[in-house]
Amino acid sequence: MSVRIGQGFDAHRFGLGRPLMLGGVQVPFEKGLVGHSDGDCLIHAVCDALLGACGEGDMGRHFPSSDERWRGVESHVFLDEVARVVTARGFSLGNLDATVIAEEPRLSPHLAAMRESLSRRLGVPVDLVSVKAKSADGLGAIGRGEGIAALAVVLLVRP
Ligand code: MG
Repeated sequence: MSVRIGQGFDAHRFGLGRPLMLGGVQVPFEKGLVGHSDGDCLIHAVCDALLGACGEGDMGRHFPSSDERWRGVESHVFLDEVARVVTARGFSLGNLDATVIAEEPRLSPHLAAMRESLSRRLGVPVDLVSVKAKSADGLGAIGRGEGIAALAVVLLVRP
């Protein structure tokens, strides 16, 4: 059996007049994340972790921002595509653990929905997926509430 680890990171700044999407879940807030797509940094970190684990580069390689096809798309489209890459390489998810770093809004009421959303998209039982939230304790740009960052680590297994 082959076991692979992958890690991913992403961050996006806040902008007014956009929905705040995290893990494919819309979180009620007056600001959203700005990006070429919907700015869902949690999904982007998960995608990079999955691609890294199977040696398939990163999101920039698969979904270049120069490609108009990906402008404004909902990030679950990326996750669906990355899940296909993982499956095509013969891997399945061992587990996924992610952390969202945000000063605001309070994310704990939404973590279960994010976990459910990611597991549904990846087609795995919910207990293989973990989503946690942390504040940056006022430190740096994230601590000043200028945006949100996410970290993800995955284990992939291939019989
Ligand atoms: Mg991103």
